[in-house]
Amino acid sequence: MEKNMQAEKLFGVIGDPVGHSLSPVMHNDQFAFQELPYYYHAFHVKPGELKEAVNGLKALHVSGFNVTVPHKIEVMNYLDSIDEEARMIGAVNTVVKEENGWIGYNTDGKGYVESLLTKAGETLENSSILVIGAGGAARAVISELARRGVRQLTVTNRTSAKAEALKERVSERADIRAVPTPEAEKDTPSFDIIINTTSVGMSPHVDNIPWRTDHLKPGCICSDLIYNPLKTAWLQEAERAGAQVLNGVGMFVGQGAFAFQKWTGIWPDVDRMHAVVMHHLGGN
Ligand code: NAP
Repeated sequence: MEKNMQAEKLFGVIGDPVGHSLSPVMHNDQFAFQELPYYYHAFHVKPGELKEAVNGLKALHVSGFNVTVPHKIEVMNYLDSIDEEARMIGAVNTVVKEENGWIGYNTDGKGYVESLLTKAGETLENSSILVIGAGGAARAVISELARRGVRQLTVTNRTSAKAEALKERVSERADIRAVPTPEAEKDTPSFDIIINTTSVGMSPHVDNIPWRTDHLKPGCICSDLIYNPLKTAWLQEAERAGAQVLNGVGMFVGQGAFAFQKWTGIWPDVDRMHAVVMHHLGGN
């Protein structure tokens, strides 16, 4: 948007912390590129202030917003309706002001699977997939993999009860196993795709590794949702062991692209969004 032009629509992200978010730069660049007089802002909303913040955004006639940690679950209490997918996941990351009110969606799973498809292609449905972790991101990823018809899904988590609960949540959609970590580790050579959805390896604890790489299936894909650092120690190790690797940038861009489409009706230039994010992360 040109400096002297008034924004006709306002969008944003609410979270705590939120200052590091790359969503403003990614969306504002795309608004300018699409010649839309819109503006996207990061709003720092602390726990305990969410209800007031959402009411404030409504009063200001914001057109839509993203929701990030730690508000993705609680925000559902303050919306008029929750889309079926977000309800299945149990969290909202995108809110849209529609004719019938404020509607909550979740674009994290779709964003992730779109990026995974760039590596897995048509083989995804028939792949045997291990998901490490059972938090909010795992719920989004597993729900979408199940929706896409992946038939062999295994989830494991440090806290086994959470993996069991996740299995129950998606069991009507897919045949999914919840397996204790030592057992899943023994099965490592059987997985075509291993997805780390835990925060293990994220900055500043960059030396931590979530999964062993000495018994990987030849040619398997190791995928990390983390994008800071761009290539985690685990992905580096997996690559040395011969795996194909995928970081979390594609998921971040993908969730943003689906949100952008919901707000504007326009499918954005995803390559451009990717380039903007990579530039700000110090990548190519
Ligand atoms: P969350 O709900 O807090 O879940 C965290 C998960 O990590 C849980 O399964 C937790 O296990 C596990 N975990 C944490 N520390 C661990 C440790 N030391 N050893 C083993 N497991 C550990 O968080 P989330 O929202 O799902 O986010 C998880 C990761 O995904 C973060 O790194 C986040 O940055 C990333 N993410 C990326 C994107 C993207 O756009 N690329 C989007 C969303 C999230 P317990 O249940 O046992 O505690």
